[in-house]
Amino acid sequence: MSTSTQSKTEIESLLSQSESILSKNAWSTLEATCNTTFERVLNAFITHRVGEEHFASVTGYGHDDLGRDVTDKVFASALQAESAIVRTQFVSGTHTLSVALRGLLRAGQTMLVVTGHPYDTLEEVIGLRGESSQSLIQQGINYKEISVFSEDESHFEGIKNTHHRDIQNADMVYIQRSRGYSLRPTLTIAELREIIAAVRAVKPEALVMVDNCYGEFTEDTEPTDPSVGADIMAGSLIKNPGGGIAPCGGYIAGKTHLVDACADSLTCPGVGREGGYTFNLTRLILQGLYLSPSSVKEALKSMTLAAHVFHNLGYETIPSWDAVRGDIIQVIHLQSADKLIGFCKALQSVSPVSAYVQPVPSVVPGYGDEVVMAGGTFIDGSTSELSADGPLRAPYTVFYQGGLTYVHGRLALKTILKTFETL
Ligand SMILES: *Cc1c(COP(=O)(O)O)cnc(C)c1O
Repeated sequence: MSTSTQSKTEIESLLSQSESILSKNAWSTLEATCNTTFERVLNAFITHRVGEEHFASVTGYGHDDLGRDVTDKVFASALQAESAIVRTQFVSGTHTLSVALRGLLRAGQTMLVVTGHPYDTLEEVIGLRGESSQSLIQQGINYKEISVFSEDESHFEGIKNTHHRDIQNADMVYIQRSRGYSLRPTLTIAELREIIAAVRAVKPEALVMVDNCYGEFTEDTEPTDPSVGADIMAGSLIKNPGGGIAPCGGYIAGKTHLVDACADSLTCPGVGREGGYTFNLTRLILQGLYLSPSSVKEALKSMTLAAHVFHNLGYETIPSWDAVRGDIIQVIHLQSADKLIGFCKALQSVSPVSAYVQPVPSVVPGYGDEVVMAGGTFIDGSTSELSADGPLRAPYTVFYQGGLTYVHGRLALKTILKTFETL
C-alpha cells in the first residue's frame, strides 16, 4: 500500500511539474488561439441568424431544408471560406476528399501531391493500390507526387525551383496538412502559406486543395483564408470540427464555384447542394462546431502534457511540447512492444465506452505489421476523442490523439504512467 501511494504521489508531482511549466508557456498560445477561433465560430452563428427553426429536417428530397443551408453558411464563415457543403452523406473523411477530387479533376488533367505519399486510405481513391475502375487514375487523371519535406526544412518555397516543371504541369496541387499516420512533420499554417505562394509563383491558376483532416482550429487561421490561399479543403466531422458531437459527416469548403462542383459530384448535376435529407442531425452538427474550438484546445493541452512528461522521461516526442501544432496528434517513440501495448491497454481502461475491452495487436489491411489500437469513444472511430494506435515495429511508435476534455487526458496519462512502472 505504501509503495503504491508513493508512486501515485510521484506521478502526480511529475504531472504538476509539467503543468506548471506548460501553463506559463505553451498553454497561453493555445488559449489565445481558442479565443480567436471560438469568437469566429460564434460570430458565424450570430451572423447567419441560427434559430431553433433550423433544427428540424425536411424529409424526402430535402428541398428547402433551412437547417442544411444555414449549416453550410456557418461552416463557411467558421472556416474562413467563401462557401461550404456540410453533409451527413459524406461517409468519412476519405469519402469527402474523394468526392472533392472527382468534382474538381477531369480526364487528362494532372494532380500533383506536394507532401509526399498521401494518407493510406487515399491510395485506392487515387489508384495507387487496388483495382477500382472508379479510381482517379483509371478515370484518366494523371498523378504525380513530390515531397516538400525533401527540401531544406525551413525553405519549402524552394519547390518553385526544384519542382518548377511539375508545378507548371499540374492542374491541381494537393497538400496534406496533417502527418496522419506517418512520421513526416505536420504543416503549420505559416508553412502552408509559404508552399501555396511558391506554387502560385510558378502557376498562378493552379487549383490548390488541402486535406485539412485533423487541422481545424489548431491555429488561428484556416487554409482557405485568403491570407493563406488554398482554393478548397475538406475534412471529417468525426475529427476536430465535429466537436465529439456530430455523429458522422464531412465538409468541403472553399471558393463557391469549386464547392458547387463538389456538390454536383456528391449528389448529381441539377441537384447539387439543393437536396439531401439531414436526418434531424442539424442541431448536433451545429452544436459540435460550437464546441470544436474548445475541444481542440483541450486535446492540444492533453497532447502537450504527454509530450512534456514523456520527453522528461527520456522518450523522443514529435512534435516537441513547445512546437506550433497543426494537428491534434502526438507521436511518441516508446521503443518497446510491451510499452506500446501497455499504453493502449491503459488508455482503453480509462475510456468512457468499452473500458472492459483489452486491446490486442492485430493485422489491419494496408499495414505490413500488426497494429494495436485503443479508443473507447462515443462515436465509432472518432479520433477527436482520446485514442491511440501504433504498428508493432521499431521504434514502437504510438500515435496518440484527441481528447474532448483535459481532465480525461490528464487522468489517462496518469494511468499510462502507472502501467509503465510495471513494465
Ligand atoms: C483521418 C484522415 C483522413 C480521412 O480518414 P477517414 O478515416 O476516412 O475519415 C484523410 N487524411 C488525413 C491526413 C487524415 O488524418
